Amino acid sequence: MTRIAVIGAGAVGSAIASALVRAGHAVTLIEARSDVGAGTSKANTAIWHTGFDAKPGTLEARLVARGYQLLAERADEMNWVLERTGAILVAWNEEQFARLGSIIANATAVGYTAVEHLRADEVYAAEPHLGPGALGGLLVPDEGLLDPWSIVIGLATDAVVNGATLLRSAPLTAVESIPDGYLLTTGAGHVEVDWVVNAAGLDSDHVDRMFGEDGFTITPRRGELIVFDKLARRLVDHVILPVPTATTKGVLVSPTVYGNVLLGPTADDIHDRAATGTTQTGLDGLLEKGRAILPELLDEEVTATYAGLRAASEHSDYCYELFPAKHYVRVGGIRSTGISSCLAIAEDVVSQFEELGIRSQPLTNPVSVPMPTLAEDRLRPYADADLIAEDPAYGDIACLCEKVTLGEVRDSLRSPVPAVDIDGVRRRTRAVAGRCQGFHCGARISALVEGRDG
Ligand SMILES: Cc1cc2nc3c(=O)[nH]c(=O)nc-3n(C[C@H](O)[C@H](O)[C@H](O)COP(=O)(O)OP(=O)(O)OC[C@H]3O[C@@H](n4cnc5c(N)ncnc54)[C@H](O)[C@@H]3O)c2cc1C
Repeated sequence: MTRIAVIGAGAVGSAIASALVRAGHAVTLIEARSDVGAGTSKANTAIWHTGFDAKPGTLEARLVARGYQLLAERADEMNWVLERTGAILVAWNEEQFARLGSIIANATAVGYTAVEHLRADEVYAAEPHLGPGALGGLLVPDEGLLDPWSIVIGLATDAVVNGATLLRSAPLTAVESIPDGYLLTTGAGHVEVDWVVNAAGLDSDHVDRMFGEDGFTITPRRGELIVFDKLARRLVDHVILPVPTATTKGVLVSPTVYGNVLLGPTADDIHDRAATGTTQTGLDGLLEKGRAILPELLDEEVTATYAGLRAASEHSDYCYELFPAKHYVRVGGIRSTGISSCLAIAEDVVSQFEELGIRSQPLTNPVSVPMPTLAEDRLRPYADADLIAEDPAYGDIACLCEKVTLGEVRDSLRSPVPAVDIDGVRRRTRAVAGRCQGFHCGARISALVEGRDG
């Protein structure tokens, strides 16, 4: 059995850890923070990308397209929510209109052939609340929505229940070469392994240097977003995309699987890798763009704002490479599409190991732990009479806005990768993520997290 450490328990590292452990390897998943999925994987736009706009011939184009398909294949087993809403890419001026043909050509070059031209009247028929001025657009029927929180927590859980060791609050701080492997120093002690996979997101370049490589430098690209109340959901059915530029996919308006509407993200290159706060300038700019795209959106209540940092580098593709002589795999710079591609990256890592003869006996009966049901289109525990009859804790609503029950909060604190703080409970249950942002329920949920009687 090959001992493999995966550094970073975001979507990418968790997916790799899960795939490696299912392939029969001895995996240690090492995460700096106190919880999994608490880096970029928790703060993004939650689009299930087809990869229609990826650059042909890139790793990203191949892995997003494959990842899209793999997410769909695993969704039922993991109880992940994917909504194939379709996206409408809108041209708002002549220059953008003129570029629609090249976007279709790009999609065809990456193997996605379902993009359709829409006349302006067809755009408005599909999205009647759009602002004036659309000249036409494209329908990308397979773009959709996903729930990034359940995907990353599900994959970390999958790794753990199938035998991986998860170390949290365990930043990798030093690396020592030993015969055929490494002695890793982490915040949770030493780990001896044969191979290391670097999936450290925003710090993947720093970790790369610990292994004597110097292949890229991360410059965080901050994306700020505004979450509108669920009453705004009636205004939009598709993901409304702009015509992308060289640096960003641009500001979009999108429903979420939880029934809200997102406006964002911005794209600003910054230097502080921890600057995940929003800015007045960023939010003002978004509101201005939102007013043009979907004017009525601005009459709706804002539930929350947040920002995520894309792990952008000087390269326009993923920084993914295997170094056989070093027993080291770099999976860095996964900028804007890593939730959609994570399963494909993981599949590729396993197959590259196999090609090198690093193979083991795959698990014959891997365990699957379905994620809690968080999406609006499913039967949630508070409405499930049979479940409540079995366990009245599912009838006791702890978070009124998101209708999260005491039973779900309790489960999140006892799960195989339990929440350790209120943010962890939020991402596992949606408690405190609703209209009141924890004003009503925060104290009760905090008490439960701290083991006091809620
Ligand atoms: C604004 C925005 C919008 C986006 N929209 C989408 C979208 O719609 N669809 C989509 O598919 N993708 C989207 N993305 C991209 C997606 O979020 C990322 O590609 C993905 O989350 C990257 O996952 P990761 O595991 O590489 O990184 P992360 O989630 O950041 O995980 C890396 C982990 O490594 C840990 N770590 C770092 N250093 C160390 C160390 N020394 N020791 C141990 N652990 C360490 C970190 O704590 C972190 O948890 C978006 C991103 C942003 C910012």
